[in-house]
Amino acid sequence: MAIKDKVVIITGASSGIGEATAKRLASEGAKVILGARRADRLQAIVDDIGDNATYRVTDVTKKDDVQALIDFTVNQYGRIDVLFNNAGIMPREKLADAKYVNWEKELQVNIMGVLYGIGAALPIMQKQNDGLIITTDSVAGHVVYPVSAVYNGTKYAVRAIMEGLRQEERLHGIRSTIISPGAVATELQQTVDNPALEEEMAKEAANSTAEQRRMNVLDPEDIANAVAFVVDQPKHVAISDMLIRPTEQE
Ligand code: NDP
Repeated sequence: MAIKDKVVIITGASSGIGEATAKRLASEGAKVILGARRADRLQAIVDDIGDNATYRVTDVTKKDDVQALIDFTVNQYGRIDVLFNNAGIMPREKLADAKYVNWEKELQVNIMGVLYGIGAALPIMQKQNDGLIITTDSVAGHVVYPVSAVYNGTKYAVRAIMEGLRQEERLHGIRSTIISPGAVATELQQTVDNPALEEEMAKEAANSTAEQRRMNVLDPEDIANAVAFVVDQPKHVAISDMLIRPTEQE
């Protein structure tokens, strides 16, 4: 397996897609380094995985935290094979609500967090002449949803940044991948800060059958499978863009 012994940093690894990916890659022998803010959650996941996992508390909106995560990995393992920029939030407010604090947070986590990761990892990967940077984008980086302009903006931005990364670094042996999930059952909904929308989503969930929900939402493990597929490719294969929807999603 090309996954075995790979050194993989995962941000947003304390729940959802990041947690599932850490477990999946570690189960195939990768060394996973988890970053997020909630130490208790990270500790529990690392305990569950065992020897192949370690963590460092990281707030991706802080450049020094992200640099420390990269430095910790290099000190511990001597290299970085994969950086998975996955941390994200989705407050979803109308532009007319002018929730500046949310907008700033969203840009800081979803865009600056990704850039801090790229900025800190690239010098190491350039020296290695090898490396893979994966970023969790979204269907929201391809299609604009109602009441989602700023989130959409961050995910469109990340797609442009990752394509720029691909163009700039392809001759240094560095690959760039965006993975764009549709709806995934994670804690992301808890970052929604919009009571009207939350009520609408709760009603929709209450009025749907288990079978309808099954066809309209992915599990975090479905995205972990996609990440594992990308990481498993040999060095001459660069998967730039993957879009994964639940079957019945519009
Ligand atoms: P979760 O809420 O389960 O996971 C989000 C992760 O991001 C958590 O581990 C959280 O950890 C971390 N995070 C949030 N803020 C910060 C921060 N400032 N610094 C470090 N880590 C942070 O949701 P998902 O697993 O769904 O989200 C993962 C990614 O997937 C996001 O980028 C999201 O936009 C994207 N996505 C999700 C979809 C979905 O339907 N769920 C669809 C499309 C894309 P902590 O709070 O401990 O810091």
